Amino acid sequence: MAAGRHESAAGRHELAGGRPEMAAGQPETAAGRHEMAGGRPERAGGLPSVSGAQPRSRPGPGSLRLVWVYPDLLSTYGDRGNLLILERRARLRGLDIEAVMVNADQPVPRQGDIYLMGGGEDLPQILAARRLRADGGLAAAARGGAVIFAVCAGYQLLGMEFGGDDGQPLPGLEILNISSGRGQRRGVGEILADVAPSLGVPRLTGFENHQGVTRLGEGVAPLARVVTGVGNGDGTEGAFAGRVVGTYLHGPVLVRNPGLADLLLNWAAGPLPPLQTGEEEWTLRLREQRLAAVSAGPG
Ligand code: GLN
Repeated sequence: MAAGRHESAAGRHELAGGRPEMAAGQPETAAGRHEMAGGRPERAGGLPSVSGAQPRSRPGPGSLRLVWVYPDLLSTYGDRGNLLILERRARLRGLDIEAVMVNADQPVPRQGDIYLMGGGEDLPQILAARRLRADGGLAAAARGGAVIFAVCAGYQLLGMEFGGDDGQPLPGLEILNISSGRGQRRGVGEILADVAPSLGVPRLTGFENHQGVTRLGEGVAPLARVVTGVGNGDGTEGAFAGRVVGTYLHGPVLVRNPGLADLLLNWAAGPLPPLQTGEEEWTLRLREQRLAAVSAGPG
């Protein structure tokens, strides 16, 4: 599988070695130095960055570093497809992709361009929160202006607090000003939601399965308005602030919603040309099928 191919020790080393504080005196490959040291300071995308974000230092305009955070704890309902589809859509645009998977016993590199987190059961979610808080890498990347895209448990983790296995409030990563708790009922099933017009992304289709409900605080906007389904629990779905985006949608959501995938790529790499019709065929078929399934009702 594509991400597996890139999950070499060398790949991990290149990203970790790129941390400024680790660069001096580290045994580092020539390729690693080249990947991390080159490049001009640049803030790609033209969209508002997270407040206080620094310009990103990227290895070059034609390359992108994707980081799949804690697949060993957070990856339900095929969320890994989000990584695979970003890789594919970026490569079709000629971008050079470095994709790394970072398990919960590894440090989260700080120099990625796009970070992805998936959903998870309650206990893995609690463990992931503890480890990510102790590691600090994801929060540092967010402060540095990286794109972060998180699903369900990953989305809740980005917030100030989330509901533990008994509903007890547990501290989140404080990257996004949202708070989650446990609702009365699980939200399970297909979901449709209309995206905030400022993002220019068509209606979202996805699958949700969560007990969490989420309140948005100041400085955070809903990603979408629910048409069918539960989402945050108050008629809104997901949240975003700058380049940090969270959603309850699985599907995998970036496969079902190529417009959302391209939004993330545009934020990280700058404007990209549309794909050729033939290259979109299977994505569009899946999307149409899922949209039609909900409109037609449970049947
Ligand atoms: N455990 C969380 C909840 O039930 C997240 C579930 C998930 O990621 N699918 O709300």
